[in-house]
Amino acid sequence: MDGGREFFAYRDGRLHAEDLPLEIISREVGTPVYVYSKAAFLHALKSLEDAFKGSRHLICYSVKAASNLSLLALVAERGLGADIVSGGELYRALKAGVSPRRIVYSGVGKTAREMREALEAELFMFNLESEGEMLELARVAEEMDKVAQISFRVNPDVDPHTHPYVATGLKESKFGVSREEARRLYAEARKIPWFKVIGIGCHIGSQLTELAPFRDSLLILADLARELRSQGHNIRYLDMGGGVGIRYRDENPLSLSAYAEMSLKAVSDIPDLTLVVEPGRSVAGNSAVLLTRVLYNKRNGGKRFVVADAAMNDLIRPSLYGSYHAVWPLNERPGAALSPAALVGPVCESGDFLAKDRELPDLAPGDCLAVKSAGAYGFSMSSNYNSRPRAAEVLVSGGDFRVIREREDYESLVSGEDILQLN
Ligand SMILES: *Cc1c(COP(=O)(O)O)cnc(C)c1O
Repeated sequence: MDGGREFFAYRDGRLHAEDLPLEIISREVGTPVYVYSKAAFLHALKSLEDAFKGSRHLICYSVKAASNLSLLALVAERGLGADIVSGGELYRALKAGVSPRRIVYSGVGKTAREMREALEAELFMFNLESEGEMLELARVAEEMDKVAQISFRVNPDVDPHTHPYVATGLKESKFGVSREEARRLYAEARKIPWFKVIGIGCHIGSQLTELAPFRDSLLILADLARELRSQGHNIRYLDMGGGVGIRYRDENPLSLSAYAEMSLKAVSDIPDLTLVVEPGRSVAGNSAVLLTRVLYNKRNGGKRFVVADAAMNDLIRPSLYGSYHAVWPLNERPGAALSPAALVGPVCESGDFLAKDRELPDLAPGDCLAVKSAGAYGFSMSSNYNSRPRAAEVLVSGGDFRVIREREDYESLVSGEDILQLN
């Protein structure tokens, strides 16, 4: 576990979240259910705060990783900020008590309505990603007679050595603008009276396990920041994005102190500069497990399938990225015989699996499993595909737990729908 602490571990043969046996939750709340450890989430936040302690920095938790209001409230309580990518995330962050002056708005396609809402809230910084977006924000700001604090997201064209779907800083990606384009846009932005140019940013990808891509892109950004300053642009914030990887299987996560030290060193000769960090996965990823119950065992063409009640609509990462999530029975089975199996859900897609080619013990219908490291891009990417109500979310603290999002019901599945006939 990151930081050497285990928040989900066996005690007397029973898997616990902190001091609570997970079987209590599976019994009382049912499955599938996401179970977050408050201590794990806070520990991950604090580790990052400690790593950057004493430096000028702003930590903006990336809301899209896990966006439950109770989690965002923990972020707000610690006085940290948020990185948002939609009006919906702005709504969540504000509702949870995150200060708008610590909210960074990223993303390639902000709509006029979302810009209006963000300007109304007076959030801290818009990270702009194209000329079109810049002009649209200028138009909206003028209409509202408000000043927008802006930065441009620069695409440093650095290979993050991660899954292609989460590599976002290559020159042919949809994100950010090239350095040349950035120079031009900064010059244009200066002429717009509704803008206050305050920063520069990047986000090169997710689940990075090497320091070099972070360093390479930071050095590129720092160079550009110096150049822009020499031209009179008041660049005071350098947003280095998120992307610190976690351990799902056997990855060696970066040491946060090495990450912070490298980052601060890369910008150390730029006076009065504040680093902005946008961690998502590294905070939420190992803060939750997804509990699922075995429904059936079957064999097809000599292959063993364990059919469970959680599916790709609950956790899409294995289907979408081929990601590995460890699978642990709630009752420890030391010495049990293992055989290769696929853990699959009820959804009507062959791509519906939570684990493949996995050595699993014999499992009986009713047995519960924990799918580990499910906190980031787990519930937040879940859907109602196959008209499956979305799972409940639970927050554990010590030996207590609370349901922080009710399991959806059939009513919620059709809310907003009507049976209407067109003539
Ligand atoms: C998704 C995202 C992040 C968070 O990335 P993680 O890999 O989860 O840390 C940060 N910044 C931006 C702009 C993002 O889109």
